Amino acid sequence: LPAASVHLNDPSLFEFAFVPRAHSSHKGSFGDVAVVGGAHGMSGAPILAARAALYSGAGRVFVAAIDQGPAYDPVQPELMFRDAASLGTAGTTIVAGPGMGDSANAIRILAKALDGEEPLVLDADALNLVAASPDLQVRLAARSGIALLTPHPLEAARLLGVTAAVVQGDRLAAAREIAARYDAYVILKGSGTIIAMPDGEAAINPTGNPGLASAGTGDVLAGLCGSLLAQGWPGRDAALAAVWMHGEAADRLVAQGAGPIGLTAGELPAAIRSVLNRM
Ligand code: AMP
Ligand code: MG
Repeated sequence: LPAASVHLNDPSLFEFAFVPRAHSSHKGSFGDVAVVGGAHGMSGAPILAARAALYSGAGRVFVAAIDQGPAYDPVQPELMFRDAASLGTAGTTIVAGPGMGDSANAIRILAKALDGEEPLVLDADALNLVAASPDLQVRLAARSGIALLTPHPLEAARLLGVTAAVVQGDRLAAAREIAARYDAYVILKGSGTIIAMPDGEAAINPTGNPGLASAGTGDVLAGLCGSLLAQGWPGRDAALAAVWMHGEAADRLVAQGAGPIGLTAGELPAAIRSVLNRM
């Protein structure tokens, strides 16, 4: 592929995708997001993703728990909690994976999500389940709707059947290989996050800092991606914008003294909202 198709990620690549909200907007104008995850003992991950979706402008946000979880979030009462097994996929962008676990129930629900036509973000355990299941791999490769995958290096390694060291040795090649294999938008996370498109275009992200190296920050990124897709963003622009804004939000928090040491994932959604509203 020509070197020219690798960019430094920058708002000039995606800022045309921001459209001002019409005065006649209502919540149905900005899409529904359902975060599928939260197996027993892992309720926090999908809640972080769901908060990110809410703070980045999705119209309605659901947490669809694999096992029975909390009935509501007292800190974020805007979120609606559902049982993942009874989740309808029509008209809903799904973010699958945060705290999802690897139960038979999780596999069944993931298969159903893969078979839907709506945009789908796969993160964390959803990626590990795909890596471990030829059946889920076939479903992912065959789906027609947008798929956006957000692996960290170990998750990418599992998808490719190599070690994390191999992925880290050529991050651009690894991200492009996954994107080509699944006709998907791929965000290979970590310092210098790579965004790879199914057509070979790729970008390296300059924003973000080691304050993001803590639990839950990946869940926030997945929720942000799902939110932009639910609002109608194309996969390319959603992936580029989500990664850039997530890192930029962390950089601003650090500039305010809220990190890098001790920066928490829960602080990111509101910071992302500030970044987004000033784009
Ligand atoms: P996860 O590995 O799923 O917890 O996601 C971690 C998130 O933090 C991803 O968005 C990473 O790109 C980001 N991140 C982690 N460490 C760094 C770092 N040193 N510099 C920039 N971003 C980072
Ligand atoms: Mg993660």
